[in-house]
Amino acid sequence: MKTFDDLGLSDNILRAVKDKGYEIPSPVQEKAIPAVLTRKDLLAAAQTGTGKTAGFTLPMMQILDETGDAKLSRGRPIRALVLTPTRELAAQVNESIKTYGKYTSLRSLVIFGGVKASPQIRALRDGSDILVATPGRLLDLCQQGACKLDHINILVLDEADRMLDMGFINDIRKVIKMMPKKRQNLLFSATFSKEIRNMTRELLIDPITVEVSPENTAAQTVSQRAYRCDSTSKTQIAIKLIKEGNWEQVLVFTRTKHGANRLSKSLDQAGIQSSAIHGNKGQGARTKALAGFKDGSVRVLVATDIAARGLDIVNLPHVINFELPNVPEDYVHRIGRTGRAGQEGDAISLVCNNERPYLQAIEKIISQKIPLTDVDGFKPELWPAKGPTASEVQKADAARKKAARQAQGGGRRKPAGQKSGSKSDGAFNPSAGNSAGGRGRRSGPGASRRRTPRGR
Ligand code: AMP
Repeated sequence: MKTFDDLGLSDNILRAVKDKGYEIPSPVQEKAIPAVLTRKDLLAAAQTGTGKTAGFTLPMMQILDETGDAKLSRGRPIRALVLTPTRELAAQVNESIKTYGKYTSLRSLVIFGGVKASPQIRALRDGSDILVATPGRLLDLCQQGACKLDHINILVLDEADRMLDMGFINDIRKVIKMMPKKRQNLLFSATFSKEIRNMTRELLIDPITVEVSPENTAAQTVSQRAYRCDSTSKTQIAIKLIKEGNWEQVLVFTRTKHGANRLSKSLDQAGIQSSAIHGNKGQGARTKALAGFKDGSVRVLVATDIAARGLDIVNLPHVINFELPNVPEDYVHRIGRTGRAGQEGDAISLVCNNERPYLQAIEKIISQKIPLTDVDGFKPELWPAKGPTASEVQKADAARKKAARQAQGGGRRKPAGQKSGSKSDGAFNPSAGNSAGGRGRRSGPGASRRRTPRGR
């Protein structure tokens, strides 16, 4: 088994890793760190919870540290850009960079939307080696002339699949146009839809590929259970499970923002301190909810998929799927919040009769049967005694495939928050300023599954 010392990292970086208490590199780190240090492009199939952040930040900082011109004052050009889909993930990546870079003289800065731009513009004027940003705010600041990308040597697209789902493709194209063509590109994605494969073909030159199976990661460390419910009894069941289990830190997923608000209110009324986190919440409220959840003052965080994406909550013991996601890969992302870095985790799903097809789709992609039982005192009335018929399953499967095909064919709804005119057709445009001849024409790893954007 390899240790961090075997990966080619410099002393400055290794000391910070050791201070953080990491001993063994995770599989994605073991593969990605030496790959990035070769200065080649990287395509990594890895989701949050696999240690991917250190997988790209550690070698990226080492390269910047070794190639920097040691300018310590104002006017440092930005040499590395990390794009992330959400503000929370941007903030977390920036925190990681600060932690791992503490023995280097590198500066890092984070910018995202939903907060005032003026402090970010001032900070950009002071100069930074690394910029972590969400695409929309970055583009705004670049277009205002507050941010220059003409010295970028390394571009990281973190959670690229989610960025495309959120309609950021055009913003990403525009910012890429502002960068030098010669640079190292690192792309991380949990899933590989047609759009992601298009993007990797156009963006990456002969990339090194690293794959870490999210399905296996989740299956090995997370204990999964499902409870049959009627939709009317789900709230009471969640309250019972949390109270009787004395669960102190629980992340609950709902499909909609309103559902998250409603559930959070009911939990509060039942004496369970909770906060809801979703796209309609301002940055202040989201940061406060997350901080409360981390320090234990908020017992339950109720979140939609997009809001929860990338949350770094260490050792989270319990996840409840209040509703099952209709895209099975989202289930893997959700339960990836628990059981991280080898910790034990517990994932509960509350499933009502009309969610059975979703459960089956999930079991299919994780290649595992999830034990399904009733909660004491809550025998569901609407569930048939037997499981779904074969024709029901076939029908649900066909409907799912049709929805996926429609999504791929451009019949997608505009996700909430997407700017008008920012069409998310996913085809990555080689004329967007990044294309060069002789690019590697390879397909991304993993199954080609399409996510359906939902207005979260
Ligand atoms: P990430 O997938 O980058 O969000 O990381 C998931 C979690 O694992 C974070 O809380 C990291 O601090 C932690 N982590 C990352 N790498 C290691 C490692 N090699 N050993 C132990 N914990 C780690």
